[in-house]
Amino acid sequence: MLEYQARKDLLNNKTILVTGAGDGIGRAAALAYAQHGATVILLGKTVKKLEKVYDEIVALGAPKPAIVPLDLKGATEQNYVDMAETIAEQFGQLDGLLHNASQLGALGPFEHIDLASLEEIMKVNVTAQAILTKALLPVMRKATNASIIFTSSGVGRKGRAYWGPYAFSKFATEGMMQVLADECDNTQVRVNSINPGATQTEMRAKAYPAEDPQSLKSPADIMPTYLFLMGDDSINTNGQALNAQ
Ligand code: NDP
Repeated sequence: MLEYQARKDLLNNKTILVTGAGDGIGRAAALAYAQHGATVILLGKTVKKLEKVYDEIVALGAPKPAIVPLDLKGATEQNYVDMAETIAEQFGQLDGLLHNASQLGALGPFEHIDLASLEEIMKVNVTAQAILTKALLPVMRKATNASIIFTSSGVGRKGRAYWGPYAFSKFATEGMMQVLADECDNTQVRVNSINPGATQTEMRAKAYPAEDPQSLKSPADIMPTYLFLMGDDSINTNGQALNAQ
């Protein structure tokens, strides 16, 4: 999908929430969406990083974003319900939701899986996304066309030795996408997933410490798929598992 070219005004008048917007692929998606006209809601854990992205968006002359500091690890269902209410009050509707934040956790043999970290990864990568989506669906149904994007991984489509809870969580992400896409079929909400592929970020460096980052695509390089699925060119795409590279 690297060849898709988005119109400059693709996302004009749309409000889009991006999780993990402070760094890596989420930061690049927030910037790309803002550059294409969207008002972006930046959700993330580290406020300083979100503020930096906020400033970058303002410097581009793009619509003023909003910041939601939230750690998906500790967030409660009520936090998401309150956030959905605030979005409904301030923006009236939500046109896009990019589930991007996730945790890698420790990689290693199955016998070394630690219960606490397994539960933490499932909470951040799966449970939080389900409950956040549930809370936001009513405000997304107010949009003429709304897009939900889940972020998968190669190890969420074919299991690989030593990838542990991260891999299970990505299979669950694909499952959640398929269930919700089937429920939303023939409605104005569409639901798809993206496997970014090997991309130059902190998470990738943690998983492959010996790799030369310069040999990888940058987060900005892989934005065509993120733009395609968020904009109205993908109105008829639902339940698809796409590759960004
Ligand atoms: P990074 O680790 O670079 O960025 C992850 C972002 O998620 C950060 O902004 C981080 O915030 C945020 N985040 C992590 N945990 C939480 C939490 N508990 N609550 C709120 N925010 C949180 O990762 P990438 O950009 O590489 O990954 C983005 C997505 O792409 C992930 O879903 C990942 O699994 C997927 N992916 C990436 C690949 C790659 O090669 N890079 C390949 C395949 C899939 P903070 O910085 O504040 O910690």
